[in-house]
Amino acid sequence: MMKMRQYFLPTLKETPSDAELISHQLMLRAGMIRKLASGIYTWLPLGLRVLQKVINCVREEMNHAGAIELLMPTVQPAELWQETGRWDQYGPVLLKMTDRHEQNFCYGPTHEEVITDLVRHELQSYKQLPLILYQIQTKFRDEIRPRFGVMRTREFLMKDAYSFHLDQKSLEQTYQLMFETYSKIFSQLGLNYRSVRADSGEIGGKISHEFHVIADAGEDTLLYSEHGDYAANLEVAEKEGLKEGSPSPDGKGKLLAMHGIEIGHIFQLGTKYSDALKALVLDANNQPMPLIMGCYGIGISRIVAAAIEQNHDEQGIIWPQAMAPFQVAIVPINMYRSENVKKAAENLYEKLQKQNIEVLLDDRDERPGAMFANADLIGIPHRIVISERSLKSGVWEYKARSAKESTLMKPDELINHLF
Ligand code: ATP
Ligand code: MG
Repeated sequence: MMKMRQYFLPTLKETPSDAELISHQLMLRAGMIRKLASGIYTWLPLGLRVLQKVINCVREEMNHAGAIELLMPTVQPAELWQETGRWDQYGPVLLKMTDRHEQNFCYGPTHEEVITDLVRHELQSYKQLPLILYQIQTKFRDEIRPRFGVMRTREFLMKDAYSFHLDQKSLEQTYQLMFETYSKIFSQLGLNYRSVRADSGEIGGKISHEFHVIADAGEDTLLYSEHGDYAANLEVAEKEGLKEGSPSPDGKGKLLAMHGIEIGHIFQLGTKYSDALKALVLDANNQPMPLIMGCYGIGISRIVAAAIEQNHDEQGIIWPQAMAPFQVAIVPINMYRSENVKKAAENLYEKLQKQNIEVLLDDRDERPGAMFANADLIGIPHRIVISERSLKSGVWEYKARSAKESTLMKPDELINHLF
């Protein structure tokens, strides 16, 4: 619910010269983000609204799946990382620091150590399992080449979940549940995505899947079977002796390649962290058993950029409904020269607001062309133009952001059509 004159929306007319990727350019131009330092960004009000849409969707579906939210610290003690051996293994991506007592800490790039430390103290019995805990929180990875705006940053927002089990079967059930939950989240956000078998990398474990937004700008190459279900990150396919063009292992045609942006990653960790940190629970026979673990990440801030890669045109962003910072833009023409227009625009603004529809009223004294360009740039799904002429003929001019042409509609008809 916002009037442009009072809002903080610093848009840019020119494309910033240091931004290569279209999503990076548009996020700067639309006044969503500003860079503070390499790989470190401020989310401006418009960007934050979109980020919060993603957060809300992720939170709702995680809760729905029975996961329970908590919040862990960003700063983590070195001792825990030394216990798992990752203090040295993780490499320069781990940002280390020392406090006034000469104690070592790192800024968390991920939270397996902290969560496993928590549950080793708090879980005693198999009766408390299975358990899925998650947080939505800032991570820091000292990436060698931060780039593409919020796509690959050093500081970013992640949803990370961790599950705890007595046996492999229970882990597999939860893994499947998380797989389905991720699919639901990405569908709801309106993303065109694909899941692939993946490499577990630094995190560990054997079985893992990534979720990718399909986009030419993606840094990852995905191989998929022409007619079958086989799909894997090229990193995995290569290890299995496959490239692009070779016959698909499922026998259904050739392997084709496409580019993807990794937005989610799920892992069956097994006992890697519970062994290292001695996180045990008693089973039904009172025998101590190491917890079997899974972990599940979503790149919340990266999703915002990935969505723009998939949804834009020459004029700017075209938000999928679920991610749009506002649903409706009201553009009054000459509202400071026509009392009728001003009244009609403000009435509509209040009416929509009462219906809890997120609406942005462009109450600046600007040329119509500039206001249209602005609404297109920031990608509001629905635009309603109110002018002296349209008021006289009893209709409003409506345009969907994704449509080429506008249509004339009676006010009631239009509101029914929209909501
Ligand atoms: P990448 O291969 O892109 O470096 P990763 O495999 O190291 O990512 P994970 O440890 O799987 O990342 O983290 C979970 C999710 O967090 C990723 O799927 C991705 O969406 C997001 N993510 C990881 N690194 C970054 C980053 N530097 N900037 C923004 N998002 C990131
Ligand atoms: Mg990953």
